[in-house]
Amino acid sequence: MSINVILAGPRGRMGSQAINMLLENKDAFTLTACIDRKHDGVELKDIDGMPDLAVPVYEDPEACFRENGADVFIDLTVPDSGYRNTKAAILHNIRPVVGTTGFTDDQIKDLTFLCEEKKLGAIIAPNFAIGAVLMMKFSKMAAAYFPDVDIIEKHHDQKLDAPSGTAVKTAELMKETRTSKKQGHVNEQEVLEGARGADVDGMKIHSVRMPGLVAHQEVIFGGKGQTLTIKHDSINRDSFMEGIKVSVKQVMELEKLVYGLENIL
Ligand code: NAP
Repeated sequence: MSINVILAGPRGRMGSQAINMLLENKDAFTLTACIDRKHDGVELKDIDGMPDLAVPVYEDPEACFRENGADVFIDLTVPDSGYRNTKAAILHNIRPVVGTTGFTDDQIKDLTFLCEEKKLGAIIAPNFAIGAVLMMKFSKMAAAYFPDVDIIEKHHDQKLDAPSGTAVKTAELMKETRTSKKQGHVNEQEVLEGARGADVDGMKIHSVRMPGLVAHQEVIFGGKGQTLTIKHDSINRDSFMEGIKVSVKQVMELEKLVYGLENIL
């Protein structure tokens, strides 16, 4: 049976690629509607650069969810609208699969609570690349042995949030195995503010934003006489599509919100 999907952000880099993925898997998925802040009352085929599909497009998520039946809602937009869309989807009993990054802890808590109340599946994944999930898992293992660790995450310069959701998630996972410590010299001073990066329980996160990049992360561990680097590169957005595909299928089996692709693989 085909899974009916509504997608927000169809003109975006991730959204347009996700539509291609849905079309390449026509036996598994049907795109029933899209949410786009700049188009209302048209069909997808009427928008420049979009595939030739008679799929209705709405500006208003409420109207979209009310007028179109769907099993799953995919959000690939920006944090504010992503949160509003996701909340509206849950209230309409449509299971969200969220790739949008930058949700606050409170927003995630709120969505988790709503899903729990409704016994509705949802997946929020700051990184849909399977290799990135492995990078996080390996980092969690290594942090048990190497408590001195810096994360360097590098993304394209159109990314709105810093540090990346993946970097924060990696630090959170490492916190579970790492012995908490403040890194560096006890008398260390920042001569220029921010030089040592953001701090999570003594671990440092550094964010690089550059045109030409997609999504890259290095986790560098240091011990006596050795360093260990775990590195992942998303060379293009194809790297995220398998994770979205798996999530759209898996979310149908869930009755709660799951945060992080590693928890469904
Ligand atoms: P993008 O190319 O900039 O696309 C963003 C989309 O959101 C566009 O369609 C844009 O429409 C729309 N949008 C922008 N501001 C909006 C607003 N205020 N209200 C509603 N819609 C708005 O970005 P992208 O690279 O596709 O990334 C989309 C999201 O996915 C980001 O949050 C990014 O961090 C995240 N991401 C996640 C993963 C993952 O694996 N989870 C991987 C890559 C990216 P306009 O053209 O009108 O601005």
